[in-house]
Amino acid sequence: MKRRTLLQGMALLPTLPLLASRAPLSQAATVVPLDKAHSEWRELLSPEAYAVLFEEDTERPGSSPLNQEKRAGTYICAACYLPLFDSQDKYESGTGWPSFTQAIAGHTAFKRDFKLIFPRTEYHCARCEGHQGHLFNDGPPPRGERWCNNGVALRFIPQGEALPALRS
Ligand SMILES: [Zn+2]
Repeated sequence: MKRRTLLQGMALLPTLPLLASRAPLSQAATVVPLDKAHSEWRELLSPEAYAVLFEEDTERPGSSPLNQEKRAGTYICAACYLPLFDSQDKYESGTGWPSFTQAIAGHTAFKRDFKLIFPRTEYHCARCEGHQGHLFNDGPPPRGERWCNNGVALRFIPQGEALPALRS
């Protein structure tokens, strides 16, 4: 019951005027957060992936090969390999970034981002805290969510291929 209430709360997040702090949301997830300094990922990642994941950079629109990825499979965090999206929730948003209608429940966490004039909902991997993208409420029905993700922060694993072990 408690878990269900929390998940429903997460689904409503984009419409909330103010978001709760990250801590309660992280606790809602079954994911155990990694205790690893962000800088330690630097040697495991390309400079482009590191800049997005741990310096909150944004990749150039249209630059990710994952924009064209149409196969069935799973999108995992490029840093720690936690599965974040299912291919069945991917859609063509026309933005130039891989876009999804929802994330795998409990595998992302949120914070408010004031880098632009208007506040945005930033989301990141619930396990390694690697920045993934921003959540908007102009997505397709029925959920109306647009999870706008940096392709370089994800890895695609085609269906039938084993998911790699989580990286620590
Ligand atoms: Zn991660």
